[in-house]
Amino acid sequence: NKKIGVLAIQGAFQEHKDILRELNVDCFEIRQKSDLTNKVLDGIILPGGESTVIGKLLNELDMRTQLQQMIIDGLPVFGTCAGLILLAKGIVNDDNVYLSTMDIKARRNAYGRQLGSFSTLGDFNGIGLIPMTFIRAPYIESTSSSVEILATLSDHIVAARQKNMLVTSFHPELTSNLSVHSFFVNQLCI
Ligand code: GLN
Repeated sequence: NKKIGVLAIQGAFQEHKDILRELNVDCFEIRQKSDLTNKVLDGIILPGGESTVIGKLLNELDMRTQLQQMIIDGLPVFGTCAGLILLAKGIVNDDNVYLSTMDIKARRNAYGRQLGSFSTLGDFNGIGLIPMTFIRAPYIESTSSSVEILATLSDHIVAARQKNMLVTSFHPELTSNLSVHSFFVNQLCI
């Protein structure tokens, strides 16, 4: 059985665990560096939350470089919302970068800070129409040519994949639709 870690230092990690349970995938929380190094991981999920806070905690817990190297070495990773920002090599409206492993440029709080939360149906390549829930979400402003665009909404990229890395601007873990997690587990965590 595949074992998926969920980064559990801030944000909406419980919802990801619930979805993985529904998919009958073993999951455990990643709270400290030893959780990264001592366990066999088939993949990791970086949840939504506040990217500045998660980024700061990754440094304080001495986890950032370790996690970054594991992703560079091929660990499958799925970043939602703040998780997308953590993986981006650039943030157009912020000077920070965090794990900086994926050739995307993200725009933080791209739909506005206050009224930036909404749900809609959107088309996800290879899956079809799924509910997409956005909460003060980023979108992807540009990518390198090696990034596969998986979903767009009003001409903005909201889901993409590059090799072992999958990101969504929206929160599939906040809906009852399991398809994006299933895509991650079955297509990337191989
Ligand atoms: N606005 C948050 C950030 O910039 C992301 C919001 C979320 O993950 N729901 O990190």
